[in-house]
Amino acid sequence: MTTTEPTHLPLPLESDWLDWVGARGEQQLALARSLVDGLRAAPPKEPLEVLRVWNEAQTALSNAGSVGSLFSEVHPDKQVRDRAESVAQEVQKLDTDLGLDTELYAVLAGLDGSSLDADAARVLERTLRDFRRSGVDRDEATRDRLRELSERAILLSQEFSKNIREDVRSIRVTPEQLAGMPADWVEAHPVGDDGLVTVTTDYPDVVPFRTFAHDADARRELVTAFLTIAWPDNDRVLQDIFAVRREHASLLGYESWADYDAEVKMIGNGKAIGEFIDRITELSTASAERDKAVLLGRLRQDRPDATDIDGADTSYYAELVRKEQLAVDAQRVRTYFTFEAVRQGLLDVTGRLFGLDWTPVPREDARTWHEEVATYDVSFQGERLGRIHLDLHPRDGKYKHAAQFDLARGVNGTQLAEGVLVCNFNRGLMEHDEVVTLFHEFGHLVHHVLAGRTDWVRFSGVATEWDFVEAPSQMLEEWAWDADVLATFARNADGETIPADLVEAMRRADDFGKGYDARTQMFYAALSYDFHVNQTDDLTARLRELMARYSVFPYLSGTHMQCHFGHLDGYSSAYYTYMWSLVIAKDMFSAFDRGDLFDPEVAGAYRDKVLAQGGRRDAADLVEDFLGRPYTFDAYAAWLAE
Ligand SMILES: [Zn+2]
Repeated sequence: MTTTEPTHLPLPLESDWLDWVGARGEQQLALARSLVDGLRAAPPKEPLEVLRVWNEAQTALSNAGSVGSLFSEVHPDKQVRDRAESVAQEVQKLDTDLGLDTELYAVLAGLDGSSLDADAARVLERTLRDFRRSGVDRDEATRDRLRELSERAILLSQEFSKNIREDVRSIRVTPEQLAGMPADWVEAHPVGDDGLVTVTTDYPDVVPFRTFAHDADARRELVTAFLTIAWPDNDRVLQDIFAVRREHASLLGYESWADYDAEVKMIGNGKAIGEFIDRITELSTASAERDKAVLLGRLRQDRPDATDIDGADTSYYAELVRKEQLAVDAQRVRTYFTFEAVRQGLLDVTGRLFGLDWTPVPREDARTWHEEVATYDVSFQGERLGRIHLDLHPRDGKYKHAAQFDLARGVNGTQLAEGVLVCNFNRGLMEHDEVVTLFHEFGHLVHHVLAGRTDWVRFSGVATEWDFVEAPSQMLEEWAWDADVLATFARNADGETIPADLVEAMRRADDFGKGYDARTQMFYAALSYDFHVNQTDDLTARLRELMARYSVFPYLSGTHMQCHFGHLDGYSSAYYTYMWSLVIAKDMFSAFDRGDLFDPEVAGAYRDKVLAQGGRRDAADLVEDFLGRPYTFDAYAAWLAE
């Protein structure tokens, strides 16, 4: 390793982006290839040296991957995005090839790890596990079949999402049936020649319609159409996806896909997923029943003979209850959140909490991809840790959601951590939801930067188990709900600080329905788990059984929501992860004093023992080290009961 002081990645002048993205990708890919060639042909004698070369190759591959995935999503120039996309594909291909490279595996598997320190030994152990999970140590016929299955999985996955994307359904309603809809929405939905209005199953239609439309029949018709998207085509695709995964897991010697997938997660094995779902179901039942009774009570004011409430009515009545009984005026709330003040407030809050200094980098020095991107250097006790870029507003061709991307993963002596937040917030006043999202995503960014001082890229940044990744971010959301914290930056045009009682009311409104939401989430988690463990000929029948057991709301007749539940593909058997992280987040948060969220001792311990460790140890051990005891469900249960 070099001993020169690592620096940030210099970005190109505006006219040079296309060449730069291509060159950076090619150069890092070529470096990775040549390092691996060297390992195969003439590996160093010392095990530690072999791992160091492997680490350099992984760093180069990660650098190429970062440039590919970031700029294919954010660069304003389509040519640059396309160029980055092809870099990302090359990285993906090389990664797959390396995973099935028997010669390379032989070099690494032949190392005697007995003299390695804990970190290096863990790198070796994790690397060999990755290799085995890709099937590199199996006979040739099995490897060929695994490759076939992976290729088939990619095609099925594309077909599954395409069927969802392209099957837009719609209903036709009279203008009177739009009663309750916001004026700007009605304006954007003109009446056709036949006197009717079309409402589609796309999110910008279905979400407000099921929330605001007074007409119960129209709501029911639209929600039913929505929960029938991609039926029946995706029913068959799903069966094929599950079959491919079953065979994949079985070829590698696992009892189920859930066991294979969970092996590298905090939860450990498939059976534990089922137990977790049952446990959360039990913990959330009282809260779920309580809030559901409020919904049903409100429904009965309109329909006195109603005995239950289903998916056609839940969003509508939840909104009514929030408005009538929990009275929070969203129009008033947003006057306290001007974008510039929120961004500075976030930096001040996290700076104070973690002892970090965020220093703005002038635009002419940072040379980012867009003039709205704000760049900061980050340091801790005078030591430079890295650089962040905040790209927070929407524009054409840009990624549509909110996420943290890597620009570089920090490696001691080699490169500084650089991370990017990509969001789509309002430019003037922000909704409080957006403020919470900003804190959440910034949690990933802080994790990325703080865990960037490691010798091993394998453990750098958010390199922890997938079902722990969300916990630090979910915990940081708490700071965006604290009246004292918000008071440090949330001020309206008259300079008045957001009142504590308004924050309190916002929290109450947000808390309403958390129990039945948890039950609904556990129904989804049960679908994702059960379909990957138990073979069934009739997915809808199985869905109805699981819904009856896990959701507090009844099945909506004639629907087949499994066909458009996209996460069955992306998350496979692991949809439980978000709730799992939340349980851990609530537990970690219990260590903080709610009267003083800035207590430097607790925050410092959390920074050093959890965030800064990255993937150096199992998440369960990091959490135990911070809390002084193993994690429990107590804090989560207490929160549900609040
Ligand atoms: Zn997140």
